[in-house]
Amino acid sequence: MSTPSSARRRALKAALAERDGSACFYCATQFGPGLDGSTLDHLVPRSRWSTWAVEALVLACEPCNRAKDDSAPALWLRPAVRFAPGLVPLESAG
Ligand SMILES: [Zn+2]
Repeated sequence: MSTPSSARRRALKAALAERDGSACFYCATQFGPGLDGSTLDHLVPRSRWSTWAVEALVLACEPCNRAKDDSAPALWLRPAVRFAPGLVPLESAG
C-alpha cells in the first residue's frame, strides 16, 4: 500500500487530533498549531494490517514513532480514555 499524499496525511492528522487530542498517543507530548512535530503512527503495525484507515492510526511524536518501529501492538496499546465500570469515561487523554 502506497504512502498517502501530504494533503491526505494532513487530513488524517487533523482527524486524529479531533478524535484523540493534539498530543502524542504514547507520551502525551502536546503538538503545536498545525500539529508540528506529529507523525502518523500505525497502532497496528503495517506488517500486520496494511492500511491507512484512520481507525488504525494515532498521532505520535517522532521519538515515540521511531522507538515503536514495528513492535508488537500489545506492548503499546493503552486506552485513550479511562473508564469506570460500565465503560463510563472518567477522563480524556486529550
Ligand atoms: Zn511521544
